Amino acid sequence: PEDNSYKTLSVETIGAHLGAVDAVRSRLGGNADGWSVREVGDGNLNLVFIVEGPDETVIAKQALPYVRLVGDSWPLPLYRAFYEYHALSRQAARDPGLVPEIYHFDEAQALIVMEFLSPHVILRRKLIAGEKVVDLGAILGRFCARTAFYGSELYMQSADKKADVALFAGNVAIPAITEALVFTDPYFDAEMNAHTDGLDPVVADLRGNVDLKMRVQRMMTKFASNTETMLHGDLHSGSIMATETEARIIDPEFVQYGPFGFDIGMLTANFLMAYFSQPAHRSQADLAGYQEWILSVIEATFETFQDEFRRLWRDERQGMFYPQVLFEGQGHDPMPACNALLGDIWTDAISFCGIEMHRRCLSLAHNADFEDIEDVRIRAPLEARNLTMGAELILNAESFADAQALCSLARQYN
Ligand code: ADP
Ligand code: MG
Ligand code: MG
Ligand code: MG
Repeated sequence: PEDNSYKTLSVETIGAHLGAVDAVRSRLGGNADGWSVREVGDGNLNLVFIVEGPDETVIAKQALPYVRLVGDSWPLPLYRAFYEYHALSRQAARDPGLVPEIYHFDEAQALIVMEFLSPHVILRRKLIAGEKVVDLGAILGRFCARTAFYGSELYMQSADKKADVALFAGNVAIPAITEALVFTDPYFDAEMNAHTDGLDPVVADLRGNVDLKMRVQRMMTKFASNTETMLHGDLHSGSIMATETEARIIDPEFVQYGPFGFDIGMLTANFLMAYFSQPAHRSQADLAGYQEWILSVIEATFETFQDEFRRLWRDERQGMFYPQVLFEGQGHDPMPACNALLGDIWTDAISFCGIEMHRRCLSLAHNADFEDIEDVRIRAPLEARNLTMGAELILNAESFADAQALCSLARQYN
């Protein structure tokens, strides 16, 4: 039976609501009346409350029935909280410790109560502020490799994987956002688009390039139809929270089954946009060093992704893909097949990377790396570098041998 009890919570009502949940009340301690509550949602979609009790502090994230960035003219199903909850559970098993621990899930209220990450801050803010995170690339590369491998039939039994694909296939409205805002709208004059003054000639070039649009549509075909693994689906620097030495992943409500290379490609684009935006955020003395650090994170992410994927391939391959009977069982080295697949993943990742670099400057939902640059005469040329490099990635995805080649190209455009 359908439960229609959903009510949007507020700073005033959430204490009483959570006070009635034993697991949450005992964790926070004291009385709900005495808890302090703040709403801190800075994302595009949901309410996020910090609820602080005498013993502990938790995060309560509630889906709204519409897109927060736009308002109730754009309805969005509450069921995305259900998928976010299940994505968090799977990610916690596949890379323990990387996602917030879940304390309580209430499907009817579209509400997830979880670990409060503190003193972590959103990585995008750190990149704008010029702050480094130790071993960031290794942490992110491992997360991408583990979730890619364990979420696929390299590891899962086929029946389990198919059941999970069926479960997540119910998350229709959220992928539709990506299909429109990422893969379609940037390449025509869509209603919700916006771009910085001064970019018209670059934008006209992109929209006039039919080869580019063909390739982007090919990637959307893969994104929507290929169920290689369970994706995070929204892995940008605003979905990572970090301290100087730790990084954690949040906000997987865009979860879906999709191509192996999607998450790492989107992530790489967000580092490249941080890179291109730096001249507006750093003094000349700090600029080159910090930009090189960003590129070193991209390289480390890919190196670790490959190393970890190869390790898992060697030691934990137990699903129906590339079965041992065909390789080890007949005396073959299993690694050439792994390396060939990694090559395909890399090519897809480069293409997705270029597409993400486009959409963040052209459609709805821009990123603060560029958006925080108030002077459009400074912002536009930096975004133009990013857009032009993005097109080169999409058009020549096959020609990038490795992350070093990608970073060399970034240096040329910088
Ligand atoms: P949305 O889906 O609306 O983008 P997010 O899950 O990204 O929502 O959360 C929005 C903001 O809330 C984050 O940018 C972060 O500042 C804060 N936040 C979310 N989850 C946590 C958490 N577990 N710990 C601390 N802060 C969090
Ligand atoms: Mg978010
Ligand atoms: Mg903009
Ligand atoms: Mg989100």
